[in-house]
Amino acid sequence: MAVVRMTERELGNSNQDLLARLAAAEETIRAIYSGEVDAVVVNGASGPGIYTLEGADHPYRVMVEQMHEGTVTLDRDGLVLYSNPYFCAMMGTVSEPVTGSLFDRFLQPLEAHLFEGLVESAGVRGYSSGELNLLAADGGLVPVRLSLTLLELADVQTICVLASDLREQRRNEALVKEEQLSRLVLEQAGEGIVFISPLGTIVRCSVSARNLAARPALLNPFDEVFPLTGAQSPLTADHILSTVSGGEHMRGIEARMRRPDGRISSLLVSASPLRGPTKDLLGCVITLTDITDRKRLEEAQAFQARELARSNSDLRQFAYSASHDLREPLRQVAVFNELLQEKFRNNMDDEAGQLIQHTVDAAHRMEALLRDLLAYTQVDDTPQQVARINANEVCRNTVAIFEERIAQSHAHVDCGPLPELDVHEVHLTQLFQNLIGNALKYKGEAPPCIRISAERAGELWRISIEDNGIGIHPDYQKQIFGLFKRLHGGGKYSGSGMGLAICQKIVRRYGGRIWVESEVGRGSRFMFTLPGETP
Ligand code: ADP
Repeated sequence: MAVVRMTERELGNSNQDLLARLAAAEETIRAIYSGEVDAVVVNGASGPGIYTLEGADHPYRVMVEQMHEGTVTLDRDGLVLYSNPYFCAMMGTVSEPVTGSLFDRFLQPLEAHLFEGLVESAGVRGYSSGELNLLAADGGLVPVRLSLTLLELADVQTICVLASDLREQRRNEALVKEEQLSRLVLEQAGEGIVFISPLGTIVRCSVSARNLAARPALLNPFDEVFPLTGAQSPLTADHILSTVSGGEHMRGIEARMRRPDGRISSLLVSASPLRGPTKDLLGCVITLTDITDRKRLEEAQAFQARELARSNSDLRQFAYSASHDLREPLRQVAVFNELLQEKFRNNMDDEAGQLIQHTVDAAHRMEALLRDLLAYTQVDDTPQQVARINANEVCRNTVAIFEERIAQSHAHVDCGPLPELDVHEVHLTQLFQNLIGNALKYKGEAPPCIRISAERAGELWRISIEDNGIGIHPDYQKQIFGLFKRLHGGGKYSGSGMGLAICQKIVRRYGGRIWVESEVGRGSRFMFTLPGETP
C-alpha cells in the first residue's frame, strides 16, 4: 500500500486552503440568508448542491417565475435544477417537487428519443427546438414546443428548456379542421342539408339543397325556398320547428315540392333539433332526399301491377266462361249423337256409325279438357285462410279412388308417413290425384311401383311421388308443367295436358314449387314443396 507522506509545510498550506474555502462558503450562505444572492439547493445523485444567482439578476428571475411559458433548467444528466411555476401548472405538478427529479418523467417512452435528439443537437449547436407531447401528472398529454439552450452556470453546464404550451393552438387547429370538414360535408353530401334558425330562416345550406331549391336559399325563409306539401297539409318551417323542439325527431316524411320551373319533386324530409351547449334551441337541421325517380318507378310498377291484375282477372273470367259455358252445349252434342246412334242403330251403315262414334269421343275429350281448364281457373278461388290437414289421410283417400286401376295393373302403392300440411284439402287431393294418376298412366312394362314420401326442406315440406314408369327425357322435364303440354299423347295415353299445370299453380299459391327428376325407361320422381307443421 502506498503511503503518502506530507511535509509539515504542505499540511499547513492545505489547511490554509480549506480554511479559505470554508470562509468563502460561509460568506455565500450568509449572502443567501441576507437575500444578496439567489440560490437553489438541489439534491442530486452526488449529494446536495447549491446553485447561486447573483443579486443583480434578480429581476430576470422574477420575470422567469412569472412568465406564461414553462421553463426548466436541467443538468447534463437531465436532472431538473429549476422549473418555473407555469411549467409546474402546465404539467399538473404544483403540489410535488419537480426540482431534483429527472426530466424523463415528462417524456412518453415513444418520444424519449426525440428529446435525446434535441439535447444532443443543443450540445452541438448550442440551441435546438422541436414539438413534443409531454406526459402530465394526471397521465394526459400536453403538446409543447421545446426550445433548448446550452448554458454555462457557475462553471456547470446546464440546459435551459423553454416549453411553449401548444394546447390552445391545437384546439384552434381542431376547430378549423372541424369547420373545414363541415364545409366539405355541406359541399359534397348527396342529400340536401339545411340549417334553419328558430325563425325559419335558412342559415346554412348544402350544395345539393341549393340545387334542389333552384333559387337563392341563404337567409331566405325556408317555406319560400322549399314549398313542401306533406300527405295532407303544407310542411312548413313552423310545423317542423314545433315538432322537433318538443323532443320529437321527424324521420322520412314524404313530401312534394313544386320547383321554380314547375316540375314536381318528391322528397323524404327528416329533421332534428340543433341545440347549443346550454341546450337552448338554435334551430334545426333538415335533410331533404330527392326520391322523384324512385317514386316515378314505384308508380309505374304499381300501375303495371294493377294492369296485370286487371288483365289476369279478365283472362280468368274468360277462361272460366269459356270452360263453364261451353261445357253444356258440348254435353248436348255428345248426348244427341249418342241418341242418334241409339235411335238409328239399325238404319245406318257402319261408316255412318263410326263417324258418329268419333264425334261422341271428340265431344267427351273436349269436355274433359274444359273440365280441367275450369279446375285450373278455380285454383285461386279458394279462400286464403287454410286449416292444417293430415296429408296421410288425403293420400289414402286419393289412392282409394284409383283402387280399380291399381288392382287391374297389379300396382303397388306405398304411402307415407306424411306430415300435416297447411293447404286446402281440395288442393292436396288434386295434387295427389294428378301425380298418382300419371304414375299409374305412364307405366312401363313392369307393374307400377309407386312410393309417396315426405321430408323437411328448410321452412317447407318436400313431398315426393316416385314411379318406375316410362320416364321423361331431360329436354322436356320443364315443359311438361305448361298449359296443355303433353309428351305422350295420341291414342295410347288419354289426357288433356292440364294436370301438371294445375299442380304447379296450386303449389305456387302456397309459396312452394314443383319439379321432376327422371330417366327415360327407369321412372320419374315428382317433387313439390308446401308449408306445414314444424317437426
Ligand atoms: P296429361 O297426363 O293429361 O297429358 P299432365 O299435365 O298430367 O297431362 O302431364 C303432362 C305430360 O307429362 C304428360 O302428357 C306426359 O307426357 C308427361 N308425364 C306426366 N307424368 C308423367 C310420369 N309419371 N311419367 C312419365 N311422363 C309423365
